[in-house]
Amino acid sequence: MDEKLQKHCTTFDQSLRRSKREFEAKFSQELKQNCTMDDFDMLRVLGSGSFGMVVLCRDKRNNKTYALKLMEKGNVIKTKQLVHTAAEIKLMKNLNFPFIVDMHGFFMDKVYVGICMSFANGGDMFTHLRDLKKFDEPLAKFYAAQVIMAFEYFHFLGVVYRDLKPENILVDSQGYLKVTDLGFCKKIDNARTYTLCGTPEYLAPEIILSQGYNKSVDWWSMGVLIFEMAAGYAPFYARDPMKLYEKIVSGKYTCPVHFSKALKDLLSNMLVVDRSKRYGLLKNGSKDVKGHEWFKNVDFDQILAKRVIPSYQPKVDSETDTRYFDTSEKMFELKKLSTDPYETDFNQMFTQSIQNG
Ligand code: ATP
Ligand code: MG
Repeated sequence: MDEKLQKHCTTFDQSLRRSKREFEAKFSQELKQNCTMDDFDMLRVLGSGSFGMVVLCRDKRNNKTYALKLMEKGNVIKTKQLVHTAAEIKLMKNLNFPFIVDMHGFFMDKVYVGICMSFANGGDMFTHLRDLKKFDEPLAKFYAAQVIMAFEYFHFLGVVYRDLKPENILVDSQGYLKVTDLGFCKKIDNARTYTLCGTPEYLAPEIILSQGYNKSVDWWSMGVLIFEMAAGYAPFYARDPMKLYEKIVSGKYTCPVHFSKALKDLLSNMLVVDRSKRYGLLKNGSKDVKGHEWFKNVDFDQILAKRVIPSYQPKVDSETDTRYFDTSEKMFELKKLSTDPYETDFNQMFTQSIQNG
């Protein structure tokens, strides 16, 4: 490992230790609601996911714009996501890292759970990947470096992320990334977990094979993401999910001819079915990934301090510019109820210590 990287790793480790102390002190505290639906003017729909809607809104109290994720309580209960939703909010509230989306507020009313986040107005990586077809390797490295550091942060705090994919990575107005959607995050510390969750193309073999797993799945998905950013498509693909899973557990994939030798080598060390040989999980942990030849010219410290000018910047002219979002979805009518059938479930969940699936 070269001297610069060595130095970065030492200072980064120190900052992670500090972050962990801060996180643990806050994590045990009860989560308090600090805003209400009435504090916001809803401007337009930014996106909808399986569990809710994300709306661009203006906070009337400070006139700033935010992204507000609204999840219907009934839907959360029906899809058995209560534990995951509580984890998402508790974690997001207490995390503090430049490449992870930050939460400003949280509330519950009779119908919704609302999470108010900073608005990343460059849209998600999926949109840019579709527009550019693929990222050149320097851009893929710049993005990978940020997600790797975000993962080092998560893992140091004992959290596994479990839902990496281009849709869950946002680009801010400067061109830096924010990992969002902590819906499958879990604080597992040194334990193993068994839940099947994630997105098919990004699932690690050990999840498909129902083996207990931990942060290993994030390093696998990091390999999938690096491949997808540089190729424009995922390494394992089949229309039929069973065929897709067969391909993943076989670990066989083909790199496009334009991939550099270093990139192919890195992937051959990340997309490894045998976890005892996968980069990120060996004796040197994430340093094997950051110290790999493919990242030779990447200055992790400068990226962390956001001193590198991104080679690709979204073209946005204002705080409320939503050109990178499909805003054709109509702003929906907010539902109102006079009683809340799920009040006890939600209140219990938010006052309990976090135990999720
Ligand atoms: P899914 O489970 O399908 O991944 P979800 O319901 O958990 O979705 P998110 O992934 O959190 O929801 O958000 C859905 C979409 O909304 C994102 O893909 C993104 O396009 C947009 N979005 C989410 N958070 C923000 C934000 N902070 N700033 C800008 N856009 C955002
Ligand atoms: Mg999502």
